[in-house]
Parts: sequence; structure tokens; C-alpha cells
Amino acid sequence: MFSDLHMHSTFSDGALAPSELVDRVVRAGISCMSLTDHDTVGGLSEAEEACKVAGIRFIPGVEISTMIDQSEVHLLGYAYDRGVKELGLFLEEQRQRRRSRITEFISTLKGAGVSMGDVTIDENRAGALGRPHVARMIVDGGSAASVAEAFEKYLVPGTPTFVPRLMPTPSEAIDVIHASGGVVSVAHPGDFTPHRVMMLLIDAGLDGIEVNHPSHDTRLVAYYSELADKHGLFRTGGSDFHGWREGDEENLGRIGMDWDLPSKFNS
Ligand code: AMP
Ligand code: ZN
Ligand code: FE
Ligand code: FE
Repeated sequence: MFSDLHMHSTFSDGALAPSELVDRVVRAGISCMSLTDHDTVGGLSEAEEACKVAGIRFIPGVEISTMIDQSEVHLLGYAYDRGVKELGLFLEEQRQRRRSRITEFISTLKGAGVSMGDVTIDENRAGALGRPHVARMIVDGGSAASVAEAFEKYLVPGTPTFVPRLMPTPSEAIDVIHASGGVVSVAHPGDFTPHRVMMLLIDAGLDGIEVNHPSHDTRLVAYYSELADKHGLFRTGGSDFHGWREGDEENLGRIGMDWDLPSKFNS
């Protein structure tokens, strides 16, 4: 069953609402999807309902940004019980950190004389804010020609306006997903996860590796497949569709992975 296990909606930094995303998934011929918004479960019920109507299998997901030894590690939590209070509080803390960081980004950018489009941050937003939201404000204000340029000029480490964000450790995120009955796969490790950090993740209880991802070439796919087999981890894959990033349309229905976990996780 072709599954796309890595997708974003308007509940984080995606362009499409969960139900619009499911429409795209249907048109791409995908039969199973997971919504993995950043640090929120806010979009799951809408996506789940739309999947039910469309006859598509749905797996609850979430992408949690973590930090260890100065490496940012994105972890994908799957098939957990989203009603667990500890998980809700944990994710709310991450969203609060995101809001504080975005507020600080905006004041730093304004202080640096960068003109911004209309700035309204909804404190009660169920979803998670991220740098792409700031990038769009910068483009609207005319200070960059594109989101990519806004990142390059103002939003990445090394630029004078960069603001870091507090993040949990991978262990903390793995523990909270496990405590909620779910499993954890490391997202796009080829992007920025050194081998030493992969070993730390495995020691911390990692269950799977996102082998198939747009940022992985065939060499990396083979490398991470072997690593997964060697350590008894399962493989996951997905398009990381945001609906606005380069390659999104081509990757949909092409980059994914069968969801073949034991039936306990077939929620
Ligand atoms: P944040 O979660 O606020 O740190 O923002 C990270 C998100 O920004 C990623 O999930 C990507 O969607 C996006 N992103 C990161 N780097 C870039 C870049 N150079 N150009 C465009 N989007 C990016
Ligand atoms: Zn994103
Ligand atoms: Fe990511
Ligand atoms: Fe992602």
C-alpha cells in the first residue's frame, strides 16, 4: 500500500488545509497518509475525517524538532494516542517556544530596518508557527524576492538577524511519544544528522529511519536502508509536502514507503 508518511498542512507551515491536502493525496493515487505537522496534533481530526470519506488509510503523525550536540534532529512520531495529556502539554510547550521565537524574529528584523508585511501573530492559534511564516512577511514587505531569498538573507544561522529556538532533546521527544503508545522515526537524516548522533538516537530508543525523502539520493537511501536493517529499525518515507516548496508537486505520489508495522500500530 503506497503511503506518504510525511506531510504538512496549514496547522504548521504547509499551504493547504488538512482536507485540501487529502484531496491532493487522492488525486496523486496515494492510499495511506500521515499528517506530520510541526509540533501539533491540531490538524489530525480534519485530515482523519477527510481520509475516512475518501477511503484512504490515515495514521496520526507529528514532526518534533529537537536539538542534541548542536545538531537539529527532526523526529516523526506515529500512531500514538493523541489524547494523552503529557503529549499535549509537551507539544504546547514547543508551540509556545515557537511563538516567542517568531515574536523575537519580528522585532529583531524590524530593528534591523527590514520592512515586513502585515504582522499579526495569533496567540491562540492551534497550529505551529515557523520561520516560513516570517519569510512570507518579509516577501510581502518587499525585503526579499522569494521565501528562499528571505531565508538566505535573514533567517538562517550566520545572518545577523537569526534567532535560535529552545528545543527538547531527542530523548525527551522519543520518551513522550513512547509514553503515548507511538513509535518514532528520524526525519531526513541525510539532511543534517551526523553518524554519531544517529547512534545516540538509537541508544535513546529510536524505532525507525525515514529512508525515503526528497533530500535523499539513491546512495543515501541505500545507506539508511542498511543502517535500519543492521539495528533492527523499520523504514519510513514521505514527500515532506508543504504545498509551496520546490519539488512538492513532483514528489507527491512518488516518494513514500509502505506502512508495514505490526497490527498494533494499524490505527
Ligand atoms: P522552523 O521550524 O521555524 O525552524 O522552520 C523550519 C522550516 O522552514 C522547515 O520545516 C522548512 O519547511 C522551512 N525551511 C527551512 N530552511 C529553508 C530554506 N532555506 N528555504 C525555504 N524553507 C526553509
Ligand atoms: Zn516545515
Ligand atoms: Fe523536517
Ligand atoms: Fe517536515
